[in-house]
Amino acid sequence: MAVLVQPDAEWKRRIIGLDAHDLSFCYQCGTCTAVCPISTADNPFPRKEMVWVQWGLKDLALGNASIWLCHQCGTCNTYCPRDAKPSNVMAALRDYSILHYAIPGFMGRALSDARFLPLLFAIPAVIFAAILGWLGHLTALPEGRIVYSKFIPILYIEVVFIAAVGLAMAGAALGGLRYWRAMGAAADSGGRPPPRRHLVATLLEIFRHGKFRRCGDAPGIRKTHKEHMHRTHLAVFYGFLGLVVTTTSVGIGIYAFGYLTPWPLWHPVKILGNASGLAVLAALAVFIWRRIADKAEAGKGTYSDWLFLAILGLTTLTGFLCQWLRLADLPRLAYPMYYVHLLFIFFLLVYIPYSKFSHLVYRSAAMIYARASEGAGQGRG
Ligand code: SF4
Ligand code: SF4
Repeated sequence: MAVLVQPDAEWKRRIIGLDAHDLSFCYQCGTCTAVCPISTADNPFPRKEMVWVQWGLKDLALGNASIWLCHQCGTCNTYCPRDAKPSNVMAALRDYSILHYAIPGFMGRALSDARFLPLLFAIPAVIFAAILGWLGHLTALPEGRIVYSKFIPILYIEVVFIAAVGLAMAGAALGGLRYWRAMGAAADSGGRPPPRRHLVATLLEIFRHGKFRRCGDAPGIRKTHKEHMHRTHLAVFYGFLGLVVTTTSVGIGIYAFGYLTPWPLWHPVKILGNASGLAVLAALAVFIWRRIADKAEAGKGTYSDWLFLAILGLTTLTGFLCQWLRLADLPRLAYPMYYVHLLFIFFLLVYIPYSKFSHLVYRSAAMIYARASEGAGQGRG
């Protein structure tokens, strides 16, 4: 296939600025691709991404399944003889691609720049404060035992979240579609819809997290700094899934059976919620600790990386605080904490397409695309 080379020097500078400043050390030996436990003959990486960024080949790099197939295990960083940190380059490309494919674009820019953080929190803060003002709970807290649905009725919360998350899902789908088309354009294949079997196989792969296990079984004898990945990602994935099942079950319990909250701690749904929350917090503690302890090998991490960890952690932590403050019967602390908890939930769910959480969409698209392309000779070693 003929490739029109259109270097974009400004884009290269942006990628270097996203924690990829060592990439110019790369002399294209290919060791990183050879040791990468995820790279395949059809989709070899990350050597080619190193040269694409060095040459400023933005469209090739961003219309490429490999950047999302990379699971950031760091094996390539460990073995690179030049310490060019290819894992950091791949992470920087993923960060940039979230911004690049975001619809609407200003949301991508807002989530990638710390200066917009107050504004991003102000949106849910104003929405929920307006509801509380309307209900008269800004000046007077509900009387009696603590029941959060007396503070903000569940119907109000559902109206806000269904509308906002619905818009977010539309944004995520459009962003994923743009990426899909870009992969098709870069490979000159038209980006055909995949056969259904690729969807099923990809979903099974996601539920097994098999690629993270492969990261732990990386070849060679050097100790990589991401050997905890499989267990911690499983804990976050199933912990988050458990929290979603808990929230859904509470909704079904209230609307279908009139079983009003708060539910007792021994209730199976409560046990699931608490166990899931603990799994998420434990995994996040490992993620944060390893990022600090292994900074020299792994790089300092990007803003979106830290933002995602912080928001997921604070969402879970404020959920626990709401429960403990309710049990301790401290309404003056419990109700404001519930308000803060809602802000974090809003941030986590509604900004999905523009935060690191969007890897749910982009990595799934890349995995499906890579499966559909296998054997079609679309890889460029
Ligand atoms: S990043 Fe390192 S291992 Fe990979 S090709 Fe460049 S020098 Fe070799
Ligand atoms: S970080 Fe791991 S998965 Fe990503 S390119 Fe490097 S070795 Fe491969």
